[in-house]
Amino acid sequence: MNKNELLRSLPKIDELLKEKILIEEMQKNSRTLILQCIRESIEQYRNGIINEEITEFTHEDIIKTILSCISKKNDLHLKRVINATGIIIHTNLGRSILCDEAIKNVIQIASGYSNLEYNIDKGCRGSRYDHVEELIKELTGAEAAMVVNNNAAAVLLVLNTLCKDKEAIVSRGELVEIGGSFRIPDVMSFSGAQLIEAGTTNRTHLYDYENNINENTGVLLRVHSSNFKIIGFTERVPLKDLVQLGKKNNIPVIEDIGSGTLIDFTKYGFHYEPTVGNSIKEGVDIVTFSGDKMLGGPQAGIIIGKKHLIEKIKKNQLTRALRIDKMTLAALEGTLKMYLNEEKAIENIPTLYMLLTPKEVHKKRGEKLKRKLRGLNNFTFSLEQDYSMVGGGSMPEETIETFVLKINSNKYKAWEIEKSLRKNIIPIITRVNKEQVIMDLRTIDDDDFNVISEAFKVMDKL
Ligand SMILES: *Cc1c(COP(=O)(O)O)cnc(C)c1O
Repeated sequence: MNKNELLRSLPKIDELLKEKILIEEMQKNSRTLILQCIRESIEQYRNGIINEEITEFTHEDIIKTILSCISKKNDLHLKRVINATGIIIHTNLGRSILCDEAIKNVIQIASGYSNLEYNIDKGCRGSRYDHVEELIKELTGAEAAMVVNNNAAAVLLVLNTLCKDKEAIVSRGELVEIGGSFRIPDVMSFSGAQLIEAGTTNRTHLYDYENNINENTGVLLRVHSSNFKIIGFTERVPLKDLVQLGKKNNIPVIEDIGSGTLIDFTKYGFHYEPTVGNSIKEGVDIVTFSGDKMLGGPQAGIIIGKKHLIEKIKKNQLTRALRIDKMTLAALEGTLKMYLNEEKAIENIPTLYMLLTPKEVHKKRGEKLKRKLRGLNNFTFSLEQDYSMVGGGSMPEETIETFVLKINSNKYKAWEIEKSLRKNIIPIITRVNKEQVIMDLRTIDDDDFNVISEAFKVMDKL
């Protein structure tokens, strides 16, 4: 058939509306949605024919396209995926997974009314910050605490409150960018604080801060270089000395600690990562950190420190725009409660147990998944030792020994396998290294094994 004949042979909308299978679909979906999908599908074929991409088609092809359009429109856009990358705090994949306790709290609070801003004792208006403040104080040793939407908001709010139209002194080695959307210099300029750079990229001394202090200095800002490490000829002022300098000049010391851990991970064999409690102990006036990085909770920004400063921050009108949502609060309280018992926290908070599970466990799990994947025609799998990463700008130099399944195929190229897994109904996100697709057991749940084996079975039959 030539182009014109093909175009003429496209079915009419009225005809399609009489198709039995589409009439059935109309029981489940609105007529508008069906019509929209019919129109879009016909349009797709028309364009394909005009561009000579489609040179033949059957009536069944068109029906299939319409049905797949309907199912796509019914599909949720934000959906669950399987993280097989081995990156535990994967920002693109939603960072931390909540523990069961946190999820239970979210369901409770989201499905009914709550005392979000109501004081039950007094029967009057209350504050949404009260629900977690005591808990955070207990876990960190801080005098006061409040929570906002995320750590970027926390830094913005703190600087806007304490340093608007004043100068904030920051080391040149700490002007970091996190994940492209958070840059210390940009956040500072939004907050109205003026950035004063001290020292050099690799070395900053106490006198570099001291020499920049004047009557217009608002804060001394310390930023954790979360996602990179400067090595070699370097110098960073010990926190204690910076705190002393601040005290001497009556200038608050602010620390953006980024990930913020409540647990000292050196006892589990990791490099030292600054703990929130240590910064408070050292006398830092305000510390800010994320809720969904190493803490393993929901997206949130936690601000802790001296009471008189937190009071000031709470009064800033900006808090209204940066405020934390009730579902987040519910999840955060559930997560923080776990930390009252460190053992329980490590067992129950997914981010922590994924970090701390020894590779031998993943070897056994890998063997189990490999057994499930036996008998395919086009794929074989080798279980090998490899390394996982923490991610989320946390512990950048840490490589955790793990076990992975490497996928071998004599039919498909690595990119084809990666793409096909990614486009699975429940997408499976993998890592490709040296032309080989890798699935890291560390971030895959046992419950996902069946989804993975089904995906390979489907691919195998194509
Ligand atoms: C991650 C990070 C931020 C941003 O935190 P969000 O919770 O993603 O807003 C800010 N500062 C540092 C040092 C970080 O590591």
